[in-house]
Amino acid sequence: MPVSLRSKIKIGFAVAFTILIVVAALSYGSTLTLLRAVDHEERAHEVIVTLNGVLANLNAGEGSHRGYLITGDSSHLVRHRASIDGVRSGLNNLTVLTQNLPEAGHVRTFNALVENRLQEFVTRQRLRDTEGLEAAARAIRADTDDPHIYQQANTIQGEVRRRLAETQTRASRFGRVTLSVSMLGGLTAALFLCIAAIIILREVTARSEAFKALSDREARLNDVLENTGEMIHTANTDGKFTYVNRAWRDTLGYHYADLESIYTRDIIDPAELPRVQEVIRRIVRGRTQENLETVFVTKQGQKLIVTGNVSARASDDRQTVDIRGMFRDVTEERAVERLKDEFISVVSHELRTPLTSIRGALGLIGSGKLGTLEPKGQRMVEIAVADSERLVRLINDILDIERMESGRVDLDKSSGSIAEILARAADSVRPLAEKAKVTLSVEAAPGKLWCDVDRVLQTLTNLIGNAIKFSPPGSTVWLTAERDEHAVYFRVRDQGRGIPPDKLESIFERFQQVDASDARAKGGAGLGLAIARSIVIQHGGNIWAESDGKTGSTFVFTLPAYQTEGGQVTGPESGPLVLIAEDDASTAEVLQSMLASNGFRVALASDGRKAMEMARQIRPDAILLDIMLPEQDGWETLRQLKLNDDTRDIPVIIETGTEQPAFRIAEAPVREWLKKPLREDDVIAALRRATEPTDERPPVIVTRFPRG
Ligand code: ADP
Repeated sequence: MPVSLRSKIKIGFAVAFTILIVVAALSYGSTLTLLRAVDHEERAHEVIVTLNGVLANLNAGEGSHRGYLITGDSSHLVRHRASIDGVRSGLNNLTVLTQNLPEAGHVRTFNALVENRLQEFVTRQRLRDTEGLEAAARAIRADTDDPHIYQQANTIQGEVRRRLAETQTRASRFGRVTLSVSMLGGLTAALFLCIAAIIILREVTARSEAFKALSDREARLNDVLENTGEMIHTANTDGKFTYVNRAWRDTLGYHYADLESIYTRDIIDPAELPRVQEVIRRIVRGRTQENLETVFVTKQGQKLIVTGNVSARASDDRQTVDIRGMFRDVTEERAVERLKDEFISVVSHELRTPLTSIRGALGLIGSGKLGTLEPKGQRMVEIAVADSERLVRLINDILDIERMESGRVDLDKSSGSIAEILARAADSVRPLAEKAKVTLSVEAAPGKLWCDVDRVLQTLTNLIGNAIKFSPPGSTVWLTAERDEHAVYFRVRDQGRGIPPDKLESIFERFQQVDASDARAKGGAGLGLAIARSIVIQHGGNIWAESDGKTGSTFVFTLPAYQTEGGQVTGPESGPLVLIAEDDASTAEVLQSMLASNGFRVALASDGRKAMEMARQIRPDAILLDIMLPEQDGWETLRQLKLNDDTRDIPVIIETGTEQPAFRIAEAPVREWLKKPLREDDVIAALRRATEPTDERPPVIVTRFPRG
């Protein structure tokens, strides 16, 4: 297991400190031992000196006592008593000095022996005083020095000296050990501290280098931010700016100093403010990002059209939310686009009107109602009719693609059956197929789609039309629609001449054809596939062609489909989570794709009981509840949801096919009744209202719901 740098330093310091503590403890112990040895020595000397003093006084006492016994001169007695006092005080000192020492027993014996001797002095003195000199002289002659006293004194001295030597030896040994350990420990601790210091030094150097690299990077990033042409700002949820770059300041005419007194709302056109605030509320709630085109107002009051995106993310301390905006001034672009639009609409109108009348006039001439033409003339008129029709188609296509690619075509989405869409597309080109002697084979998967049906039909018709155009008579064009978890795959396959691999991509661009003669030979101007691609991309799908360049080609496009089974959450990565409780698979699918394409995450439950269970598990931000549910109907599910602590606060939107239902439930007062049959916008608006944070009770909204 690798050891982190911090742990290494900690270990180094811990070892060094442990060693220092051991050395300190040893030194303390050794000093104490030395002090004790010194104390011991002093006491030993005192004992020996006192002992010798006692013996000397005893001798002196003995001498002066004998003097008295022989002479009867009482002055000897005075000296004798002084010596005896010395003996007694010496004995007392000895007892005190040897208290608690092993010699105390010997001292007690010594005291007793000396006491006996002193008693003998008293006896002899009494003999001298009562029986005279002769009796005392006899007693002196019979008297010898008591050898026991000196033996005992020697024993005590020997004992004291032996212990003194022992203590000194122990103290000096302990002292040597302490010295060695202290030296070794000190060196080791110093080594560890040095290692720790080196590691710290290295780390500090590495960090300061990393810090410098980071500062350099920050300076570079800052340089990029400051010099980019995009206006970039960050702000907090109160709308206070926390950063603005140079493009922002230059375009809007503000200085750094102004930022203290302005808020994000001050740079937004008042007419746009509610819409922008709604977007900000949404992104803050979902921590997401959204594209936004709006109007900014400069410090001088000039209005600028800007386009870009706003995003929200938790700040580094996770306490607040940073809102970031990145915008580009498109005022001029929009003005040019407007001019172009006006130009196109004028041109198309100006072109289409005379063209329609030319087409009408030629048609009239061609029909023979204005007189019969020569066969050659008739042929010319027919060519003119066909070409004027082609011109009308071309103008329509140009207008169409202009509108599609500038994103000004809103898809009118509704629910459509996959099989029905395919059948309608096939029907519309059947006359063409019959004329070209081409067989159409149609095979569609079950299920529904949430799409702009007319636009999908336009795409299909174009692909099938092309397939027929390029198919030899007697061949087949196959139309299929399959689906997987995420998408429906539409395929149009023919047995025509195929498309060379290097053209597979370019044919989707405007006015691009495999062969320049195709336009003349097969009709069309090379706009059909470009329009088809715009439509598919606007739906969030994809389109491509497959061919080996010899044996026919296959055009494939996908449209997003959404899973109808299981409890998992689908849709975008973030955004409010909606639980759809709906037993009808098609309706569920339609709702799911509708919500997902509006930024909601979705989970499905196919009956009331499952809905209740999942609501407790995944805690959605809102529940879309069907009333006619199996297992447990919608009203009962609503009651259960409102009785359960975990789910009580989840807003519920009820879908019902009937008008205002006759019965309500006490646990869940209904906040809104949306009476009219709803369309996508209303459902989304109701969901947005329901998922908005509010202090009120979570709403229950009842809608009459469109059935797909
Ligand atoms: P057009 O209106 O001219 O058909 P499209 O954009 O639909 O324009 O097609 C562009 C070109 O792609 C056609 O002119 C033709 O060259 C080629 N192409 C399209 N479909 C097929 C096909 N099924 N087989 C062979 N070539 C095709």
